[in-house]
Amino acid sequence: MARYTGAVCRLCRRERMKLFLKGDRCFKEKCAIERRAYPPGQHGQRRGRRTMGYGLQLREKQKVKRIYGVQERQFRNYFKKADRLKGITGENLLVLLERRLDNVAYSLGFGSSRAQARQLVRHGHILVDGKKVTIPSFTVDPNQVITVKEASRKNEFIRGAVDSARGRGIPGWLELDAESFTGTVRNVPTREDIKIPIQEQLIVELYSR
Ligand code: SF4
Repeated sequence: MARYTGAVCRLCRRERMKLFLKGDRCFKEKCAIERRAYPPGQHGQRRGRRTMGYGLQLREKQKVKRIYGVQERQFRNYFKKADRLKGITGENLLVLLERRLDNVAYSLGFGSSRAQARQLVRHGHILVDGKKVTIPSFTVDPNQVITVKEASRKNEFIRGAVDSARGRGIPGWLELDAESFTGTVRNVPTREDIKIPIQEQLIVELYSR
């Protein structure tokens, strides 16, 4: 399936929650969820619509896919991998997604959104242990060092993103030295480190049907 190229705020409104797809705007009053917290379209404001069962499970999966910018086939592969690992499948799934290089670059503040961070990775601005990695789905491991390429540190988008990310906070499983544009993976994230309000068990139920 092709990548979604429409208005991303519609996706948040569809899920009735902030998915943080648009960078700085998501933290401002201009955010569409702040102004119109109902689904888009002609019937968006209809009352008495309760999502249950399959619909609820589907919506939960869509939220996670949209937050991390992952397509259906890739998401299903993540699920299969999570299912093969020890532990709780739903938590494994979120942890695998959280360890994606584009997500790590975003969490460290090198990009103002995951989509922008993905572009930075694709265009070769991000190094892992000193080597260029251009695969956004690359999975980071503990003790790996993620840096912005020296020549890219003057890039106004990257500098702007790092500045505006200062107030956002860095997840506990990562460490950042903003002056040198360097982040270190302290440990594999746990479910507690992942602050997105998702009921991952519903996704497991969906794929177990
Ligand atoms: Fe979602 Fe951000 Fe748009 Fe708000 S501004 S609706 S959080 S993408």
